[in-house]
Amino acid sequence: MQKNKRLKIVALAGGVGGAKLADGLAQLVSPDCLTIIVNTGDDFEHLGLYISPDLDTVCYNLAGINNPETGWGRRNESWNAMHNLVALGGPDWFNLGDNDLGTHLERTRRLGAGQTLSQITRDFCHAWGIHHPILPMSDDVIQTWVDTEQGQLLFQEYFVRLKCQPRVKGFEFRGIKKAAPAPGVLESIFQADLIIICPSNPWVSIQPILGVPGIRDALTGRVVVAVSPIIGGQALKGPAAKMYREMGIKPSALKVAQHYGSILSAFIMDSTDQSQAGDVEASGIRPMITNILMNEIPERARLAKETIQFGEMLLRAPLKEKS
Ligand code: GDP
Ligand code: CA
Repeated sequence: MQKNKRLKIVALAGGVGGAKLADGLAQLVSPDCLTIIVNTGDDFEHLGLYISPDLDTVCYNLAGINNPETGWGRRNESWNAMHNLVALGGPDWFNLGDNDLGTHLERTRRLGAGQTLSQITRDFCHAWGIHHPILPMSDDVIQTWVDTEQGQLLFQEYFVRLKCQPRVKGFEFRGIKKAAPAPGVLESIFQADLIIICPSNPWVSIQPILGVPGIRDALTGRVVVAVSPIIGGQALKGPAAKMYREMGIKPSALKVAQHYGSILSAFIMDSTDQSQAGDVEASGIRPMITNILMNEIPERARLAKETIQFGEMLLRAPLKEKS
């Protein structure tokens, strides 16, 4: 496939949805022209190990070693350590495959030895044959807490242990105000021609990235294109639509566009949601309609290509000032 060499692109991504588009972009854009910045708000400690679910999902996808059935974890995984752990009375709510465990063990060892998450991610990417820079949003600890009717829950407790059942009232990204963007994050944004917000959960994947001091400001006045994670009022996976409902908003592509608001130049939405394009436009955001489902691998590069081409068109004919 011909690589797109000209445009410099930064992609912001969470886990499963973000990783699909990031992978499509990486198939088309050379490593010196694409940087992927990943949410670390989901990171947590479990069994004494530091686990970074979104970083791992993005890395495993780009390395082609992801599990296509679950969306998280490694393909051809075995579960011996987990079976033994549970047989011994250990916690069974968070599944960790044998190969995946190796990642967490080595990451935890290196963090303990004083390396930063971004250094470790760079080394792991090298070992996995990934050439595109994948940066954690920050090397500082930022923890997503979900305010629910059952009290405040750490994100993985809410997401995995309680299967997103508690009603959501709000979110707190603990540690974010004092956090700094990881090395290279702001630099890559400043050098980028085009910033792409991948179809990730706006509440818990993209909002924490935008909340790291300096990142939102760096996007001001830039060409920023988001791909909708909501199709026909539904999330394809995960609690994004449920979160909108519980926050008092009827989920739709339009509401996602309005949620991102003035940071967006343009918004890519599914043909199913064509009737909302006029309202997106009326909100000062340029809509683009296409098929945004990426169920099959070739659809990742197809949507990535359309996103880049739309970005190129926006850059050629700059929009009126973003409000
Ligand atoms: P998580 O961190 O694993 O929850 O993953 P993300 O936040 O990156 O992605 C979750 C979001 O991705 C959900 O809101 C899904 O609707 C969206 N998503 C998953 N697959 C697709 C897809 O093929 N196309 C689009 N447009 N969105 C998707
Ligand atoms: Ca996530």
